[in-house]
Amino acid sequence: MEINLDTGKLIVFLGGLFLFLLIETLFPTREWQDSRLKRFAFHGSIAALNTVIIRILIYVPFLLWVVYVEEEGWGISRWLEIYGWTEIILSIIVLDFFDYIWHRANHRVPILWRFHKAHHSDTAMDVTTALRFHPTELMVSGLVKATWVVIWGPTVVAWFLFEALISLCAQFHHSNIDFPNWIEKWLSWIIVTPRFHASHHAVDRRYGDANFSTIFSIWDRIFGTYSQPEQDGATTRGIDALGLPEARELCFSPMAWLVEPFRSRNQNLAYERVVEKAPNKSKS
Ligand SMILES: [Zn+2]
Repeated sequence: MEINLDTGKLIVFLGGLFLFLLIETLFPTREWQDSRLKRFAFHGSIAALNTVIIRILIYVPFLLWVVYVEEEGWGISRWLEIYGWTEIILSIIVLDFFDYIWHRANHRVPILWRFHKAHHSDTAMDVTTALRFHPTELMVSGLVKATWVVIWGPTVVAWFLFEALISLCAQFHHSNIDFPNWIEKWLSWIIVTPRFHASHHAVDRRYGDANFSTIFSIWDRIFGTYSQPEQDGATTRGIDALGLPEARELCFSPMAWLVEPFRSRNQNLAYERVVEKAPNKSKS
């Protein structure tokens, strides 16, 4: 059962990656500033490294934990005695809410931001940005998600569907595509769109400190963290519009990307030098 679900998740992941890659190649919104091959190679290498680390260290124990929690009947959904599609749909909604809180914490808690910054240091945004995460963030996320599992108690099937959907949505809203305003208007009321999320990656942190949702956009509207993207703003402004203001030339530096979160502020020469020069120093 788990092997089939695991294969299914991989198919959704690869299918989404190549589908959005194709769409953004045919209909890009922002002009491409770096070599796309370079972006694909850099972010693809990050994904490969992360997959190896996660598979070796936490993947199997995590799966065993999800199975164990279901067998033991732990969690709110078990106590509510919900089953079938009701359980799956409610699990996806509740887990997406947990993810919203977790993403917000990644921006607000300094130690978490150190690692999440690796994702936001991309100076552009396309489907490959969805692969750009520091392995430490993914490891810590794994531990945090283990607590979501025991609090809510999703079935193994619901968990896999949630994971597949969240990866598909992340690929979608990071991709370099945009919709006409009328589609954007109703679509962004339901799910996170590329324009909605581009605003979260804006250099201008008035936009970047908002729009934390991953699947459903409603969480930002409920908890007051929604920032209306400029109609033709965050997604289509010039090349300096996305990513963090600091150390932009280190965007594709493997060492800076990997080691920077572990440096103390005094040691942090490469980044701090640039941060001091940057006009906009605020991060969140
Ligand atoms: Zn973020």
